[in-house]
Amino acid sequence: MTQFVSGRHFLHTPGPTNLPERVQRAMDRNAINHRGPEFGALGREVIQKLRPVFGTDGIIGIFPASGTGAWEAALVNTLREGDRVLISRTGQFSHLWEQMATRFGLDVMALETDWRRGADPLAIGKVLEDDREHRIKAVFVVHSETSTSCMSDVGAVREAMDRAKHPALLMVDAISSLGCCDYRHDAWKVDVTIAGSQKGLMVPPGLSFTAISEKAMAAARAGGSRRSYWDWEPLATANKTGFFPYTPAINLLWALREALDIMAEEGLPAVYARHARYAEATRRAVAAWGLELQCLDPHAYGPGVTAIRVPDGHSADRLRAVILEQFNMSLGNGLGRVEDKVFRIGHMGDLGVLSLMGALTGVEMGLRAAGIPHKAGGVQAALAFLSQAG
Ligand code: PLP
Repeated sequence: MTQFVSGRHFLHTPGPTNLPERVQRAMDRNAINHRGPEFGALGREVIQKLRPVFGTDGIIGIFPASGTGAWEAALVNTLREGDRVLISRTGQFSHLWEQMATRFGLDVMALETDWRRGADPLAIGKVLEDDREHRIKAVFVVHSETSTSCMSDVGAVREAMDRAKHPALLMVDAISSLGCCDYRHDAWKVDVTIAGSQKGLMVPPGLSFTAISEKAMAAARAGGSRRSYWDWEPLATANKTGFFPYTPAINLLWALREALDIMAEEGLPAVYARHARYAEATRRAVAAWGLELQCLDPHAYGPGVTAIRVPDGHSADRLRAVILEQFNMSLGNGLGRVEDKVFRIGHMGDLGVLSLMGALTGVEMGLRAAGIPHKAGGVQAALAFLSQAG
């Protein structure tokens, strides 16, 4: 039996993230007629309010689904069995996306990494240059690999694709980056950007988002695979009317509107600067503990989550279990290849400095309680940084 621990649960997984009180209240309403005028206005409003977060004036579709649903939609709308796609194996989420592509019969070309850095734009460019017959139909990039906390430079991937003069579609999974850092669907000429509600956007799980370029929409209209529920076409209509072709997740959309209002009130640059500050404070704590970050490339450090390795011979899962039991805090676990070797501190979404400091304190106490070799002083290092950074 788990023992009772008083105080509020500290949710520091990299999604789902904490819901602001205002977001919780916004959902706490009776449903409305999703074919009535109030709903149409809500649908149009949330799409408008999502635009600056995605950096797009184009189509943004919302499926009542988790992010995985939007992955599937991207594949079936634009690609058909046998089409070749290029993916960088940056971590567990690129692995799962690749697995899905394989299940759909796509011909996957993969670029390996050691799961400790982002995708290599030069390597992608080289493969595309060598693909003179343009057999590669799409390039998949996971912007923020939540499993490793490494970012990929989407703008640089786009430049590499342009240099190679390659017409492949650029598809980006921004599930754990959107709302945590600057994102530019239009400026980076991304064709498909996929996101979810439960991370930087501070909304419960259940909504997925897809920003679609005209080129990707044209590819979908011209082909793709058989599809029904996942068809993008009704999303384009929904962008104009605000209505969905099925029953939408009405209360989640109220939550989303409130969350986007909160982000606009803080100001998107301030939201992104806050995430960068918390990520840096967390890394300073890790350095002071003498532990190793999973991400080896300082240019690829992520804003919303930090994956930390435990020393060889120690169990990250046991550390997390001790922290949950003794301090009532949930951290992210190591996934796939880094299972039990890594634990992840989520610092995205609705978070104040004191919550972050509380989380880091919980980790430091947990390291001690679980007998993981480390140095004291991580909390002090983070505190010193945050005090200066304001
Ligand atoms: N891609 C990334 C980068 C993720 O972090 C996640 C979930 O954590 C997913 C995809 C899968 O999304 P979902 O669990 O919402 O289906």
